[in-house]
Amino acid sequence: GSADAPKVEDNIGAVPHGSKTDSDGNAEKFEFQAEVSRLMDIIVNSLYSNKEIFLRELISNASDALDKIRFLSLTDKEVLGEGDTTKLEIQIKLDKEKKILSLRDRGIGMTKEDLINNLGTIAKSGTSAFVEKMQSSGDLNLIGQFGVGFYSVYLVADYVEADGAFAISEDTWNEPLGRGTEIRLHLRNEAQEYLEESNLKELVKKYSEFINFPIYIWAGKE
Ligand code: ADP
Ligand code: MG
Repeated sequence: GSADAPKVEDNIGAVPHGSKTDSDGNAEKFEFQAEVSRLMDIIVNSLYSNKEIFLRELISNASDALDKIRFLSLTDKEVLGEGDTTKLEIQIKLDKEKKILSLRDRGIGMTKEDLINNLGTIAKSGTSAFVEKMQSSGDLNLIGQFGVGFYSVYLVADYVEADGAFAISEDTWNEPLGRGTEIRLHLRNEAQEYLEESNLKELVKKYSEFINFPIYIWAGKE
C-alpha cells in the first residue's frame, strides 16, 4: 500500500442522480455496506499507484453496454431510437471548474435498481473472491475480472453520481442522455490531472485499443 493513499471515508457512495430528494432537498444517497467499505480500503490502498485504471474500467463498462444495445438492435431496430441516440459512442467531458469528469454512453442504460445494485454500494458475488485472489497473488490487474471494476472510480473520486437510462439532467451536455448511462466523478484534489485534456487523450488512447466504438472528449464549457 501507498502511504499517501486517501482514507475511504464512510460518507462516500453512489448516488443515482435525479432520484427522489429527502426533506432537505438532497439527492437520495446510498451508503456502502460494511463489506464494500473494507473492499474499498483494500482497493484504494493497493491500487493507488496505478489509479488511472479507473478509466479503463469505465470505458470497458461503456463498451459492454454499447455491445448489449447493438445486439438487441439486431432483432429490434427500434431500440436505437432516432437521431442522436442511434450513435453508438462514448463521450467524456472534463469540467475543471467543477472538478468533474463525466463519462456517458448510449448503451443499454441502467435502471435505478441497477445503479444501486451494480455500482458499488452492495457487495457483489465477485467481492470476496477478488479480495482473496488479490491477497494471494498481489496481481491488481485482476480487478476487471471479478465484476468489481467499477469500484476503481474511488481511486480518483470521493463522490460519484450516476444517471440511469431515461433520466434527464439539465446542466451537463448540450443534449439530454436519452438512452444510456452517465457516470460523474467528483475528482479528489489529488486527482485533478485527469481533467487535463492532453493527459486524458493519452490515457484514452492507451485504454481503448480493443474498443470498437468512437470515444469523444470535451474539455471546458460548451
Ligand atoms: P463487470 O463489468 O465486470 O460486470 P463492474 O463493476 O465494472 O463489473 O460493473 C458492474 C455492473 O454494472 C456491470 O456488469 C453492468 O451490469 C453495470 N454497469 C456498469 N457500467 C455500466 C454502463 N455504463 N451501462 C450499463 N450498465 C453498466
Ligand atoms: Mg466492468
